[in-house]
Amino acid sequence: MTAMGTADELVRIPVFDGHNDILSRLMHEGRDGAEARVLNGHAGMQVDMPKAREGGLAGGLCAIYVPSPGSGLDGNGDLPRVERPSALDQTIAQAALLRRIEAQSDGAFSVCTSVADIRGAMDRGSFAAVFHIEGIEAVGPDLDLIHVLYAAGLRTLGPVWSRPNIFAHGVPFRFAHSPDIGPGLTESGRDLVRLCNGLKIMVDLSHMNDAGFWDIAKISDAPLVASHSNAFAISPHSRNLTDRQLDAIRDTGGLVGLNFGVKFLHPEGKADSAMDLSIMVRHVQYIVDRVGIDHVALGSDFDGTLISNKIGDATGIPRLLGALRMGGFDDEALTKIAHANWLSVLKRSWEA
Ligand SMILES: [Zn+2]
Repeated sequence: MTAMGTADELVRIPVFDGHNDILSRLMHEGRDGAEARVLNGHAGMQVDMPKAREGGLAGGLCAIYVPSPGSGLDGNGDLPRVERPSALDQTIAQAALLRRIEAQSDGAFSVCTSVADIRGAMDRGSFAAVFHIEGIEAVGPDLDLIHVLYAAGLRTLGPVWSRPNIFAHGVPFRFAHSPDIGPGLTESGRDLVRLCNGLKIMVDLSHMNDAGFWDIAKISDAPLVASHSNAFAISPHSRNLTDRQLDAIRDTGGLVGLNFGVKFLHPEGKADSAMDLSIMVRHVQYIVDRVGIDHVALGSDFDGTLISNKIGDATGIPRLLGALRMGGFDDEALTKIAHANWLSVLKRSWEA
């Protein structure tokens, strides 16, 4: 890695991204006209199709996310649980929105269920969207809905968001605190992981607590993937990955997607909207040094978290790639980080 760049260099390499929240963001702003807002562009969105094209955002995991009812914590310090009927309604609404965006896109937005689909979409300049869910409160202990969602195109899921459900205990948001908070998988959670392995649905470890992470590591026969998390050694946030977790991800041929959220990047946990991109470079460098260049990629969390104004939105991606090049990553390394590592781990998750 020798090719050093110059200050504020823009580097344009197609990016396949591990996490965006455009679906819940669009629903939050109102169902009516949501398709047009994301397809034609909308000032409130960090990702819409014009911004994606400008920034080289070629695709990524589009998460269904059901917000918690209120932000207050319960007696255990956990965010409140979401009831299943409400989660089911919102999951169906966001899944339908994903398909309506595709249907109204005139080919500009493609829901992909294989790596061949993703490559095809990227080659023809169509946004390669992968149907993902973070926190599957919509699913009951019988897991029946998983089969239906799979048929609808679901290919990756996180059992939990950062709150408890019937499958596991999502890690609460705490700074200067290890992810070792609360119990691991329930019996239903174990059944879920086995079913996902059988169906070749990728299980995402971001938002798992420490016990849940290791329970999945024990059961799963697929690569361990944390789609949008950072290095705990640099920013000791409960949402980030400890060295031991990073090592396990490497040992299974898995992947970490760098989360752009400043709260999960900043060494002091500050919600600093002017945070320098060099801190993101430090996380990437740390993970690469620890586990190697094949196991790090991007997981922006666009439209789901506070991001540095040095990136701002999808149009700022070339500045991040430029900062990484300034940090010493050459074109081969940047291509891996930008999309090749994601395509490789999805292929091994879905086809192995
Ligand atoms: Zn998330």
